[in-house]
Amino acid sequence: MLSYDLAWRLDPAAPRVRGRTTIHFEGGRTGVDLEADEVLDASLNGGPVRWDVPLDGPNVLRVEALFPFGDRGFRRVVDPVDGQVYLYATNFPDSARRTMCGFGDSWQRAPFALTVTVPPAWKCLSNGPVVVDEGEVRTFTPTTPIPRATVTAVAGPFVEVHDSVHVPRSRANIDGTAIADLIKASIAFFETILGPFPYPKCDAVFVHDLSSLALSTSGLILFDQTVLDRLSDPLRAMTVISHEVAHTWSGNLVSSSQSVTEGLAVYLSRLFVQHMLGHPWEPDPTTPFPDRPYAPFLARIRAVEATIGRDALLRSLHTIMTTNPHRHLPEPTFTAHWSEA
Ligand SMILES: [Zn+2]
Repeated sequence: MLSYDLAWRLDPAAPRVRGRTTIHFEGGRTGVDLEADEVLDASLNGGPVRWDVPLDGPNVLRVEALFPFGDRGFRRVVDPVDGQVYLYATNFPDSARRTMCGFGDSWQRAPFALTVTVPPAWKCLSNGPVVVDEGEVRTFTPTTPIPRATVTAVAGPFVEVHDSVHVPRSRANIDGTAIADLIKASIAFFETILGPFPYPKCDAVFVHDLSSLALSTSGLILFDQTVLDRLSDPLRAMTVISHEVAHTWSGNLVSSSQSVTEGLAVYLSRLFVQHMLGHPWEPDPTTPFPDRPYAPFLARIRAVEATIGRDALLRSLHTIMTTNPHRHLPEPTFTAHWSEA
């Protein structure tokens, strides 16, 4: 048994984030993973935290701390167009200790129940659906077991420009229809290959100064807002958006090595684009697509396809996704499935 309750106070006027982590766990632990400016309070089973007493049965560790804003962990960004402040948390790949107290490495999975305090006029999104969507305190449905590395929340004066597509207020004139349609179409296509979409919702949010082009977490895909300026090229739009949607399965539902998760995301997004176009397609090598650094990983998946055939590869992926949901699988497990196929 391991689960987390998180409470984050995302205050645009505060220099740091006050965060409370409550961990329910069983048995003993040898240490915690935490990087905070200041620990305000810590208790174990309602008393002082003692490392010299053996623990049995269920336990509760509660830690209240002040976390800095930085380029990882909690982010505080200012829109240069209108001066609006936006706050969000990105833990990927190894910054979870900067937003919460935790056990083990940031890939260990657990359900997370999140509560976020924000200015009442703000929008706030997280991995799970929001239960209380107004006022200062927003509560989210507990997640399925997800890695600490993919726990996130974004908050600010976002505007929903179409179904579940959110942009900063300064970009509110964007028509989000095409983005929402691509997300829906890629979900529908991947469901036919990999099984049902595993989360209760899929929001897309465009934020300032994301450390990567995009970050796909369970139920919430973050894009850097500069992506909005490059979506007029339909092939690029299909590629970028379906790549992140593919990570719903390859990376989020079942996590593995970067080689496997990125190789599969590129492979699946190529299948989606070809499905949309109705004919084979590869990106023009003279106009590099953002997924080009993953070409060696794609080549490995293509080599598997060449050996066992596309049907067998897709059937094995369906089996892997539906029989190992919410788990981390080492690369050899994927390889074993492919050898069997
Ligand atoms: Zn990717």
